[in-house]
Amino acid sequence: MHEPDRSIHTPRRMANTGKIEKAQLHVPDLAELCQVLQSGLNKNYSDVKVSVVDCPDLTQDPFGFPVKGLCGQPRITDVGGVPYLIPVAQLDKVYNMNTVSKEVELPGGFFLGAGAVSRKTTGMNAELMPLVLTEAEERPAVNASYFSSINPVDEKCLLEKYSDRFNDCDFGLLANLYACEGNPGQVIEVRACVRTGEESLVSSMRKTMEEHYGEKSVALGGTFVLQKGKAKIHIMPREFSACPLNTNEEVNNWLKHFEVSAPLIFQTVMVSKDPGLDLRVEHTHGFSHHGEGGHYYIDTTPDTAEYLGYFLPAEFVYRIDRPTETHDIGRD
Ligand code: ZN
Repeated sequence: MHEPDRSIHTPRRMANTGKIEKAQLHVPDLAELCQVLQSGLNKNYSDVKVSVVDCPDLTQDPFGFPVKGLCGQPRITDVGGVPYLIPVAQLDKVYNMNTVSKEVELPGGFFLGAGAVSRKTTGMNAELMPLVLTEAEERPAVNASYFSSINPVDEKCLLEKYSDRFNDCDFGLLANLYACEGNPGQVIEVRACVRTGEESLVSSMRKTMEEHYGEKSVALGGTFVLQKGKAKIHIMPREFSACPLNTNEEVNNWLKHFEVSAPLIFQTVMVSKDPGLDLRVEHTHGFSHHGEGGHYYIDTTPDTAEYLGYFLPAEFVYRIDRPTETHDIGRD
């Protein structure tokens, strides 16, 4: 008997054919990392407390994640990149969170972070706040992501739940993601109030780690809430730029900037030192329960800013479909 060859009839996802690179990261002892972050954040915030705690139940308010915690085989991935967005958007760059979960050797894992929607699915360009429990055997994916776009009615921010509009787990162009099993467990808690320096919470943490760990790459992923105050964000326009964007100034003129209000729930990925994979070393997107969300820069109310966050160091970084032609424009 000869088995019929079914492979040519099996639909295959060809969207993501890029290569995958993997590097090990330095994972510091959590207590040591607390001390490092405490002393660094003290230079930027007047009231700081960094400690090791049990991760709060992230299925609860204000998070509403599809998993309880940030623990279990933590890893990060940088998929695609800004060079696929600018100078000219490459609309064939479509990725799928379930595929990515296998590529980072964590099928069924939970993913959070910052990315862009797929235009093929949504018919537009928009900021994506991925929160996805990827599919596993006998369990479909749970997509709790948000996306924010420019409302054509009033040119303001329009934040929507992804699953209210779309059914897939696709994204486009680029994403920086933290992945884990979504288990409860010990994490780093960061409380920081009243900003006294120029650095955002994420930049302050990342640069502190860069200063302390030097050539060793330490990556953190997690979530933080701006509990009081306001923040500066951007949202990409629904339409890609008609002309190529060749400088940071041109990119900033194309982006739409807003000041949005707490409480805002941000998802972040940061790497102290790029181990030579052309990584975006920090990327943070956030949502709210009052219709605002987007790409985070910094709070705009240093005197009243209050942050509470939970983070864990990643063990590996995976670089998926790294652009062969690269540049440093538009990575803020
Ligand atoms: Zn972004």
